[in-house]
Amino acid sequence: MPFYDYTCTKCHTKFELMRTMSQRDDPAACPECGAKKAKRGLPSFSTSVRGGSGSGGGACRNAGSGFS
Ligand SMILES: [Zn+2]
Repeated sequence: MPFYDYTCTKCHTKFELMRTMSQRDDPAACPECGAKKAKRGLPSFSTSVRGGSGSGGGACRNAGSGFS
């Protein structure tokens, strides 16, 4: 079971939880203030997954503007 990083949106505490993949997007309870408003960050074992869909959309827009 992988660890996921969470950051509390209320007090900005960062903590890790071990969860299943089906639970990873559920709101996590902050150990500091108890608010269930912690957002999931990137998994600790894969920090290089980013910008995939964003770069694809950018390429599409660039191609369209070039043709018109
Ligand atoms: Zn908190």
